[in-house]
Amino acid sequence: MALTFQPISHRTLPSDQDASGRTLGDEEIAAVTAALRSGTLTSTKGQFVSQLESRFAAMMGAKYAYACSSGTAAVHCAIAALDLEPGDEVITTPITDMGALSPILYQGAIPVFADVDPRTCNVTAATIADRMSDRTKAILVTHLFGNPCEMPRIAGLAKDAGIPVIEDCAQAFLSSYNGRFVGTIGSIGCFSLQQGKHITTGEGGLVITDDPQLARRMFLFINKAWGYGDQHPDHYFLALNYRMSELCGSVACAQLDKLPAVVARRRMLAEMLTEMLRNVRGVQTPTILRGAQHSYWKYCIRTDASLPKDAVLEMAKHLKERGIACAPRYIQKPAFACEVFARRKTFGSSGYPFNLARPEALDYDPARFPGTLAALERILVVPWNDLYDEDDVRYIGDAISSAAANLTCEVAS
Ligand SMILES: *Cc1c(COP(=O)(O)O)cnc(C)c1O
Repeated sequence: MALTFQPISHRTLPSDQDASGRTLGDEEIAAVTAALRSGTLTSTKGQFVSQLESRFAAMMGAKYAYACSSGTAAVHCAIAALDLEPGDEVITTPITDMGALSPILYQGAIPVFADVDPRTCNVTAATIADRMSDRTKAILVTHLFGNPCEMPRIAGLAKDAGIPVIEDCAQAFLSSYNGRFVGTIGSIGCFSLQQGKHITTGEGGLVITDDPQLARRMFLFINKAWGYGDQHPDHYFLALNYRMSELCGSVACAQLDKLPAVVARRRMLAEMLTEMLRNVRGVQTPTILRGAQHSYWKYCIRTDASLPKDAVLEMAKHLKERGIACAPRYIQKPAFACEVFARRKTFGSSGYPFNLARPEALDYDPARFPGTLAALERILVVPWNDLYDEDDVRYIGDAISSAAANLTCEVAS
């Protein structure tokens, strides 16, 4: 092949790291100004956070919603609400954000990793069942990239075992399964308002539940377990201050109004890209289970077996040269390969709570995780945004197609 130097076309895409790809506008400015002018910036006395909570509960069709300071705090509230014993096991996924895992350890419980389906990168009822023991006290799933896990089966498994399911929906606002929003299918749903999520307050989180006891414990956990409004309040148990401030609460109210349109737009654009990539050799578009609706926090593609494993790195290079800030192999390695797990870096040199675990629960042998390793080797996470226009999507689709064409041509020669 002749070496010809073609200038690479370059398009600046909206980014969720700044104003270009965020729906922060006059509504948020008016809301935060009203919060500031009120002079009341704590949610214990102000109006905005409580308004956010009742509106989010109504939108989701949940009985209770509480705001907190981050998605990590939201997961921590959910785990703390279960009042686990040290050494109890929580089955979870090795492909997620660390904010979904560190709260388990902080509560003295053991994250036990289930393998994932390499097509969706999500845990399944079968992989969870494979890790269940008499010490399993909860299941914590992540709907990765906004693509729902097989919730009916997972909820059925949990029901049979008599244990709760926590849904980490930090990437999955308004995703649904059989017409029900994720976060309302299990016992507790957790959400994040961090800078890069569907809607944002910079940092922030939300939890929802229908269970009054879990709701009470989550409310208390956010508030140092102080019994606000009780006749004889006390600090009822060990808890932190995870409150959201009114500054964030006011912005979140305005962002919440925009959420349905944000998700609808992301879906429409994602379907357009899927259509463009339908016949591109070597590339698989997202696998969505029957009955599931994806909310496209990110658009994750996978290279298929016709391409070598490293093709995903070449493809990422090609996309990055074109200004598409993609992430090959997402988190690079399974969560259990990080130092906190691999070297038990927790509380001093105690090894707590790992020192309480069954050896089997800490078996991180790669042979146990074929789906996880296969998934991470071949995925490419493409940044997604509701402020893309159709030309942006065509640009991304063309970049992926041309990368794949170069690669399949190399394989053939
Ligand atoms: C972002 C994220 C979190 C943590 O949320 P923060 O607001 O960053 O603390 C937890 N779980 C998942 C799946 C996430 O994507």
